[in-house]
This record gives sequence, structure tokens and C-alpha cells, in this order.
Amino acid sequence: MPNRPPSPDTVRVNPDTWKHGVRASWHTAGSRVTEPRARVLDAIMRYQTPFSAEQLYADLGHAASPPGRATVYRTIEQLSGAGWLARIHTQAGESGYVPSLPGHFHHLVCTRCGAVIAFQGCALDDLLIRLAAQTDFEIEGHLLQLYGRCAHCK
Ligand SMILES: [Zn+2]
Ligand SMILES: [Zn+2]
Repeated sequence: MPNRPPSPDTVRVNPDTWKHGVRASWHTAGSRVTEPRARVLDAIMRYQTPFSAEQLYADLGHAASPPGRATVYRTIEQLSGAGWLARIHTQAGESGYVPSLPGHFHHLVCTRCGAVIAFQGCALDDLLIRLAAQTDFEIEGHLLQLYGRCAHCK
């Protein structure tokens, strides 16, 4: 466990860094970067707001030789599990994905335009320690997402 950071830091995911990172991780894991999977990566980077697997599959369908549904879903599942995609929950009860980096991140989500800002340095440690002591609960993880209006929409 890393030490508690002093303050939250917002993190911007650079598309090129993200793509290279994903490709490098696939290479390390010994999985090939096939043409369909490369297309999935390119498509993901075009979204400005959270996207769903179904939406991604539909958008890719406009290409000349679109990746199959299984490839799209499996790629998203793998990226999400490895931390390259973060799951965002909307107030409407839907969920979507945004590019992320492996590590501990949380997100601010604009309820108006869907803009997402990632930040690091969640300061929940004290709260978790106190709750664990009070409830004898062995806490294994947490979800935290903040809603509101972004600088452009407020
Ligand atoms: Zn906004
Ligand atoms: Zn956290």
C-alpha cells in the first residue's frame, strides 16, 4: 500500500501514451495486437465522454471490416480488468467506460456534458480504518465517483 498522498492530483490520459501503454502490456502478456483489436483501441480514443460496449460495437460497425462483437466485448473486459479502462456510472443508472491508467483513480463526472476528470490521491484511508474498527468489517475495496457541473457547464 502506498502512503497517503497529500492532495488529489487530476490526471489527463494522453491518447498516444494510453495506446502505447496498452500495446506494450499486450506485448508483455504475449497477446497479439491483431487488426481488429487495434481498431477497437483507435475507436476508444475518439470518445470524449463515457461509452458503452454496445455503443462501441455499433460505432465500429460502420468500418469496412468491423471487429466481431466477441472481440469488442472481450477487449473491453480485458482493458477494464487491467485498469486501462475505468467504469463510470451515470446518474441514470447506466455505466460506461473511459480510458484510464492502471492504478488507483477516481473520477469527477459532469452531469450535463458527460466530461470526466480523473484524479489520484483519494484520502479515504482514515474513514476506512475507522469504519473497519467500528464494524469489524474487512474492507477490500471501495467505489467513489463525484457528480456535478464541469467548469464549462456550471
Ligand atoms: Zn460539463
Ligand atoms: Zn480511492
